[in-house]
Amino acid sequence: MRDYATQMEAARKGIVTEPLRSVAEKERMTVEELLPLVAEGKVVICANKNHKCIDPQGIGSMLKTKINVNLGISRDCKDYNVEMEKVMQAVNMGAEAIMDLSSHGNTIPFRRKLTSECPAMIGTVPVYDSVIHYQRDLDTLTAKDFIDVVRLHAQDGVDFVTLHCGLTRKTIDQIRKHKRKMNIVSRGGSLIFAWMCMTGNENPFYEYYDEILDICREYDVTISLGDACRPGCLADASDVCQIEELVRLGELTKRAWEKDVQVMVEGPGHMPIDQIAANMKIQQTICNGAPFYVLGPLVTDIAPGYDHITAAIGGSIAAAAGAAFLCYVTPAEHLALPNLDDVKQGIIASKIAAHAADIAKGIRGSRERDDRMADARRELDWEAQWECAIDPETAKAIREDRKPEHDDTCSMCGKFCAVRSMNKALAGEHIDIL
Ligand code: SF4
Repeated sequence: MRDYATQMEAARKGIVTEPLRSVAEKERMTVEELLPLVAEGKVVICANKNHKCIDPQGIGSMLKTKINVNLGISRDCKDYNVEMEKVMQAVNMGAEAIMDLSSHGNTIPFRRKLTSECPAMIGTVPVYDSVIHYQRDLDTLTAKDFIDVVRLHAQDGVDFVTLHCGLTRKTIDQIRKHKRKMNIVSRGGSLIFAWMCMTGNENPFYEYYDEILDICREYDVTISLGDACRPGCLADASDVCQIEELVRLGELTKRAWEKDVQVMVEGPGHMPIDQIAANMKIQQTICNGAPFYVLGPLVTDIAPGYDHITAAIGGSIAAAAGAAFLCYVTPAEHLALPNLDDVKQGIIASKIAAHAADIAKGIRGSRERDDRMADARRELDWEAQWECAIDPETAKAIREDRKPEHDDTCSMCGKFCAVRSMNKALAGEHIDIL
């Protein structure tokens, strides 16, 4: 029987839990270094007490940047086993978290399969599931219905839930007054906005926040405070709707911490490069250092088909400036449901962004693999290069496809290979170019 409710409460009581010990080891930190960060809310360890097979991870700007992959059952892919295979592939490719955004049929079996078989952190957006779970029109759902779904997800072992608690009736006026180009692009945010407009009620996730905190405390579910007003285009970035919501998310963060409930705060969105670092600083200040979970940021609006790249550029800048958690974006963003190849492209792009940021932040051990790669390249040791590569399969396939004349170079420069020439010159050997 544990004598704490959440990882935050344990840390505040000075209890070193198994998940905390495991995270400290992964991050090459001592438990003494990690404990105060969890106690202060600067690091979250998303580990629902009912997710028994979890391999715990910490999320915080002073730790390795983590990435999330969105998957789930949909009308076009309703086979649990096929979707589970995608989940495990994503985990093998380095995803630390899977958000189950299932949008079809009975979502309970797949969610329970995830929390009984998948070692990654599992997140959900209960408001999506509310509509599917009850199979009723949005405006017939009650505040209690929404909260009951949060409880169901908590009981099922979900480690973090995105809740758009910062959207209030004031937001409706703001959206109408400050005409945005893209209004609200958050799927969950738009559902709550629509529900509030149709029923005339306050956002249930805001109005009954204390009840939600009690549920999250009981199961140790981390709240990911959703940013319903995240900018959906560059023109809406850092506008009054986004910042006003962020201020409320700061207040809600403090209220959660009063009950030892762990919190992350979600962030933009579409954003020009020159605004990203400032946004990270504002969030850190307003939300007292709570981990920032960014959805991109996408640094231009004009690259459909390549938004894994626009998001990786923004994600690396954001993480280097303080974001802790990146939501992957695939080439299919804004266009279609991602297929397996899109998922792979999205994961690799996010891993590169996260890793590049970790090097810039000086995260312990983050550059070791790069240094091993440099050694392997200098030695023209191709096998060692594959071992260091983020995606060895693609790297090998490209080399195989365009084989060099001589095995010790590549077909890019052939005998003009600078590495080979330098190795030979420094060893006092003759260099044959022709
Ligand atoms: S041939 Fe050119 S690109 Fe290829 S390894 Fe040598 S220097 Fe690098």
